[in-house]
Amino acid sequence: MPCTAYRAGVFEQPDYFQARESMHTIRDLPIKGFIDTSFVDWPGKICAVLFFPLCNFRCRYCHNADLVIRPDQLATIDPEGVFSRLDDLRGWIDGVCVTGGEPTLQPRLRRLLEVVREAGFQTKLDTNGSNPDVLRELIDAGLLDYVAMDVKSCLDESSYCAITNAPASMLGRVCESIDLLRGGRVDYEFRMTVVPSYHGPEDIFRLARDLRGAARLRLQNFSPGERLLDPSLNTVKPYTPEALANLQLRVDELLASGSPRDSTPFAPRCP
Ligand code: SF4
Repeated sequence: MPCTAYRAGVFEQPDYFQARESMHTIRDLPIKGFIDTSFVDWPGKICAVLFFPLCNFRCRYCHNADLVIRPDQLATIDPEGVFSRLDDLRGWIDGVCVTGGEPTLQPRLRRLLEVVREAGFQTKLDTNGSNPDVLRELIDAGLLDYVAMDVKSCLDESSYCAITNAPASMLGRVCESIDLLRGGRVDYEFRMTVVPSYHGPEDIFRLARDLRGAARLRLQNFSPGERLLDPSLNTVKPYTPEALANLQLRVDELLASGSPRDSTPFAPRCP
């Protein structure tokens, strides 16, 4: 089945040549992972996924330890090979998801998104929301079709720091990104990975109340595994699928109970 962008005629006149000429401007990008076809990384779309190294958080449940703390041990993938494969997939995939690590730490991110667009693909950014200035710049430039922002916990410093091990000052930046996305200038979703020992039902509902009126808060189940940044979490039992589905139902109700756009900017709560 052709992808939605193909059906809509987006790829009828792909600008292969402009994209090829632009390639030298992103040749030094440290792409550390590439999935050419994903059905799960962009709701409702088929996309390729590019992984970038480094992150300014150290989330206990992170599965990307190699990307976050040992990126030098991963091979770097040639962007030209990536775009050549994207050419092959034209008409099948809708767009390209840029993820990490934290991709907004990459100085050439804007240029990459420009080249992806020149090549005729839609763009999705995964981010932890720690760089609202970069996010704003990309939205202002019209370079993003979709943003998935991870929200790690309730919006108070003690909860956020307990999960991310980031400085408390990060929370203000996260809240700025939340407010930016809730402004509705780009399609988006908030996501939260739920770890029962950190995210009880009341914590989850408190966040949903803070985000009411937002487009979506998607709960993702924590998954124990060998490669977690904090191996002690391997003893924690995740929510059952039924419990997670019930939590999501309540979250959806709480989000819908607010006004579509609360104009009050978010302010982090101090402990
Ligand atoms: S934000 Fe957290 S989960 Fe995401 S890559 Fe960074 S450390 Fe891992």
